[in-house]
Amino acid sequence: MSHNKGMVVVFSAPSGCGKDTVFRELCKRRDDVIKSVSATTRKPRADEIDGMNYFFVTEDEFTDMIDNNGLLEYAEYNGCYYGTPVKGVTRAVDEGKICFLIIEVQGAQKVMKIFPDCVSIFLLPPDLNTLKKRLYGRQTDTDDVIKKRLDIAQTELEYMDKYTYKVVNDDLGVCVDTIEQILCDELQKRNA
Ligand code: 5GP
Repeated sequence: MSHNKGMVVVFSAPSGCGKDTVFRELCKRRDDVIKSVSATTRKPRADEIDGMNYFFVTEDEFTDMIDNNGLLEYAEYNGCYYGTPVKGVTRAVDEGKICFLIIEVQGAQKVMKIFPDCVSIFLLPPDLNTLKKRLYGRQTDTDDVIKKRLDIAQTELEYMDKYTYKVVNDDLGVCVDTIEQILCDELQKRNA
């Protein structure tokens, strides 16, 4: 895959850090930013739309995607599978877009190997208590699921040094400003 036009951005954060909100804000500011829509075997949440938030698939369908080399990477997270379809990323990069892969840490490591010149950003919560409050506050998961996600969050934080950029999501505006600046700098580097 050539990326002389677009750019791949690996964007990871423990669950509850607000990565979807940050990404939505970023999209309001730049029309060349696009999200790679992942496939997952997780059940859709009430407000999620198939094909937009995720491609919601069965385990068999997910296995078929792996067997047909349809996934750039995949990983298991909290008992469900998540993977990045190759096609979406290829198309976005060919169209000159900044393609965000909003993925967990194991998949992120694989993408960094496949695209050594990708931009990698790890989003941090201000602290673990804030993360807890956010997870319980959004009322989309059961207490059991939240507890597991908090455990995973602790492990995920250990990966942050593998990312080129670490950004704290305390004040949303400041956080989005910082990421926008990173994108500008990286684009400039590539066009120099
Ligand atoms: P959620 O269930 O909260 O939507 O996602 C759980 C975790 O899976 C999040 O960290 C999310 O970024 C990650 N994830 C979503 N799509 C992918 C993917 O395609 N590949 C990998 N490795 N992780 C993903």
